Amino acid sequence: MKTIGLLGGMSWESTQTYYRLVNEGVKARMGGLHSAKLVIYSVDFAEIETLQHQGDWPATARILTDAACSLQSAGADFLVIATNTMHKVAPEIEQGIRIPLLHIADATAKVLARDGVTRVGLLGTRFTMEQAFYRERLEASGIEVITPDEAQRDVVHQIIYEELCRGQIKPGSREAYLDIVASLSVQGAQAVILGCTEISLLIRQADTSVPLYDTTEIHAAQAVEQALVRL
Ligand code: GLU
Repeated sequence: MKTIGLLGGMSWESTQTYYRLVNEGVKARMGGLHSAKLVIYSVDFAEIETLQHQGDWPATARILTDAACSLQSAGADFLVIATNTMHKVAPEIEQGIRIPLLHIADATAKVLARDGVTRVGLLGTRFTMEQAFYRERLEASGIEVITPDEAQRDVVHQIIYEELCRGQIKPGSREAYLDIVASLSVQGAQAVILGCTEISLLIRQADTSVPLYDTTEIHAAQAVEQALVRL
């Protein structure tokens, strides 16, 4: 089994979900007392969040590249960055390490393509919904991406930073998200990507008839696959 290098803490609320999912995945595949081999580097999210909102992406890239190098030195065979947003600096991080990166948008595109989804709604931080770094990976797989309108994007973004990354799960916010999912469906989205690793703490497939693609679950499942590929 390969060792997963999990770069987390963005926020730790979702990193603990990754930890559980990769262990459950290895157990399901191998049985018995098997569990995932992994090393976790968990950053202080307050530092990252401040730099994000200042637009100082190069500084975030330096912090995360140092962390990724630590994971590599600790024996990680490949890297999993446990956030969609910080894949904005994935190219810089990749330049600083020798181990491969399992990119969250590529992992998601692979599952969407497998399921024949060609027009998808995207929920995430403003950075993920509005900038090219994420959407272009999906479009490269022939998937059209639609995002909520400006006011809705604001709601989605605020709930992520003010509530979900602080471990606060509020019924009113769940309703707001489900309304936005429904409006993306009305605009022709065949499915909606939960493109922020904390959103599945708030809404689940049982809450809506619109197919949801949870990037945390997809990413963790593909990390298990990659860990169990024969060397
Ligand atoms: N975990 C979130 C994501 O998947 C947001 C936190 C962050 O900005 O990294 O995008």
